[in-house]
Amino acid sequence: MPTIRQQIIDLLTQESHDVRELSQALRISEKEVASHLDHVNKSVASQKRKLQVYPATCAECGFTFKDRKRLTKPSRCPKCRSQRIQSPRYRVV
Ligand SMILES: [Zn+2]
Repeated sequence: MPTIRQQIIDLLTQESHDVRELSQALRISEKEVASHLDHVNKSVASQKRKLQVYPATCAECGFTFKDRKRLTKPSRCPKCRSQRIQSPRYRVV
């Protein structure tokens, strides 16, 4: 039985996922997924791979949250104040 972290790596190697999709696939909370992602980042680095992050974007104005370091989704757009934010997506490359 692979660990949750290994399952996350497997899923993200196959295709990109956001936190919600991972939480549904693995039946754990989004908060747990976010905390695992931090470690996934470190463990794939030791295999000369990396966790590629496709930043969250605003669905209204297209603002991209490029500089965001945290792995969770921002709640609103700093530019137009919209709350229609598309979650960041992750992939192991
Ligand atoms: Zn916006």
